[in-house]
Amino acid sequence: MESYSVDHLIITPDKKGSREFYKVSFPFRYGRFSEIKSPGFIFQFNLSGEIKFIQGIGQNWPHPAEWLKRTAGNDWIYYSAGNYRDIYDYFGEYYFPYFSYPSNSIMDGNPFNDQSVHSAMKSWPLLQDKIKKLIPRTKPKRLKDLLTRITEKDQEALRRRSDQLHRLIGGQVTVLPPDTRHVDYEVIPIIVADGCLYHCGFCQVKTGQDFSPRPSKNIIGQIKNLKQFYGQDLYNYNAIFLGQHDALSAGKELLMLAATNAYESFEFERSYLKGPSLFLFGSVDSMVHVEEKLFESLSALPFSTYLNIGLESNDSNTLKVLKKPVSVEKVREAFDRILEINRRYEKIEVTANFVFGRDLPSGHLPSLLELTRHKLNSSCNKGAAYLSPLMEERMRDQESKRKLLRGFLKLKTQSRLPTFIYLIQRL
Ligand code: SF4
Repeated sequence: MESYSVDHLIITPDKKGSREFYKVSFPFRYGRFSEIKSPGFIFQFNLSGEIKFIQGIGQNWPHPAEWLKRTAGNDWIYYSAGNYRDIYDYFGEYYFPYFSYPSNSIMDGNPFNDQSVHSAMKSWPLLQDKIKKLIPRTKPKRLKDLLTRITEKDQEALRRRSDQLHRLIGGQVTVLPPDTRHVDYEVIPIIVADGCLYHCGFCQVKTGQDFSPRPSKNIIGQIKNLKQFYGQDLYNYNAIFLGQHDALSAGKELLMLAATNAYESFEFERSYLKGPSLFLFGSVDSMVHVEEKLFESLSALPFSTYLNIGLESNDSNTLKVLKKPVSVEKVREAFDRILEINRRYEKIEVTANFVFGRDLPSGHLPSLLELTRHKLNSSCNKGAAYLSPLMEERMRDQESKRKLLRGFLKLKTQSRLPTFIYLIQRL
């Protein structure tokens, strides 16, 4: 691993991170990347020269195990080690993500208001100005090419890139499945169907469109264009998200077409990262009605498949309050099938989403235990239950949040399924 020392910067053009995603409590990088270390910050870039991580050095930085990450959608996320104990119990990860956009965050504070985090964000264009001046006298060519690539990817270029990504897939991904946390949300999005079946009243991520599968030609076109879009950095990916809100309803033919085409076109067999993954959402109806053959086919793919189903509640009053037009009987039928699929297919994990919040009917939480505890004879390590906080404006004070977190931990200790909080993260 060759490094160059130039004008108080240490530049390492090729760093090899982990080839697998691990859940660890210290800053950890995966994939291949390049790095520039200045006296105050560590900047890391993907293989296309785009800034991906910034981490502060020294006492001013909030915590040595915290960092900033930029997503392909050009959002910054602050990975916090948290002031709270139990971060892993809440989220299944050793960090807590703070988003730079509105979400259903249940943790206090906002590091984007912190002076040192602010400086880190500002340091990035300053570094670009500095290396621009260094380029004419930089040798060898390999180093000069890297610095040129990095300066070309300025803030305006990165904004245009994220717009391009959204254009290619036909809009922003308003929410990623909670299971994508297993690959640090590093998924290539391919939209197989727009809209959803229910248009639930409570939902903040719906597009409002009626459910409509994309034509095969559109899906193949997206994959071709995405391959070009990710370019050199495709080597750092091994996971896809088949969107949007109910890909499972798109049916076997479209799902298999998208999954097999993506695997081949993106050359996941040659990816730097091991173990390809496929993520998608499904609905109560699609889970109940989908043909068994789809699971057999998914199971035969090289991917590990994670399917997340929005159940929301097992209580009819709560479903009414949420304005979710499904019956509680159907929710139970879907849950039974989730358990069955998890038992039957080793390479498929189906997880379920439920809401939680302060003002829901009193039957909601006990109804969740009916499913996550009483339906099971013993604890399971597969088929997580995710609880998505409903954070209305008046829930945003510290005490309300803490009360909700205490309620969550109480439910978690009784649940026989792995149980975590689900935050709305977009791409
Ligand atoms: S919760 Fe799911 S089904 Fe309901 S409106 Fe939102 S995206 Fe659509």
